Amino acid sequence: MPELPEVETVRRGLEERLKNFHVKDIQVLTHRTISSQGSSDVFIQSIKGLVFGNWTRRGKYLICFLQSQDSCDHAGWLVVHLRMTGQFKWIQSAQIACSHTRVRFWNKEGNEIRFIDTRNFGQMWWISPESLPKEKINGLKKLGPEPFSRNFNPIYLKESLKNRKRSIKASLLDQSVVAGAGNIYADESLFEAGILPTKESRTLNEIEITKLCNSLTKVLKISIGKGGTTFKDFRDLEGINGNYGGQAWVYGRGNKSCKKCGSKIIKSKICGRGTHWCPSCQK
Ligand SMILES: [Zn+2]
Repeated sequence: MPELPEVETVRRGLEERLKNFHVKDIQVLTHRTISSQGSSDVFIQSIKGLVFGNWTRRGKYLICFLQSQDSCDHAGWLVVHLRMTGQFKWIQSAQIACSHTRVRFWNKEGNEIRFIDTRNFGQMWWISPESLPKEKINGLKKLGPEPFSRNFNPIYLKESLKNRKRSIKASLLDQSVVAGAGNIYADESLFEAGILPTKESRTLNEIEITKLCNSLTKVLKISIGKGGTTFKDFRDLEGINGNYGGQAWVYGRGNKSCKKCGSKIIKSKICGRGTHWCPSCQK
């Protein structure tokens, strides 16, 4: 599943590739991908003729500022969530769409930005200029702070964990605690901080909380620098696979030896997600 670093990698690709992309035509092949009010027709009619402006990211949501072609007036937003397998592909010249193609956007030069999604859980919304994306999309409404923002710090994290009996792994996966940190980066940052994923959130002391804040941002930054990710299916716009995998301390390394101490890495399920940790390095 794409996590924050992958989504950020996609955002950078979209921003670079789609500068002044004037949407001449749109085709929606799978109607369930469009989650905004009205049918795919409303989505197509609203975005056709507009220009893609800046792309921002909030948690794992990609948000494009839409502009009218002549006046550069704000003309709403295009919001995208990749979910399990959604990906964008930049296509220079006409190419037949594969069966997993969901939405296609063309400019007048005949370039295409194609949304492909094998599992078909990805979502797109058109949000009118009168509203804000967070007013219309529930998942955006309840997102916690971005891990790189000032609002995410040891004081905030301590406060947010103080009444939680759940495991620290479950808290890190909770998007209302911190936006965008998913399974891979939760496991890796807990290893870096030396904390057992099963530990009750409310029992973490100040030193552990500070370590965890630092390790989470560190792990995410390294991964963004590598173009995203550990997971093998991820591709950026140009079809390139990120390579964080080689760097993982624990994720995907169940039964292998810990790179620090040699103990056997444990793999088990916590709140339904495969979780990896070293029984010696993490307390
Ligand atoms: Zn170890």
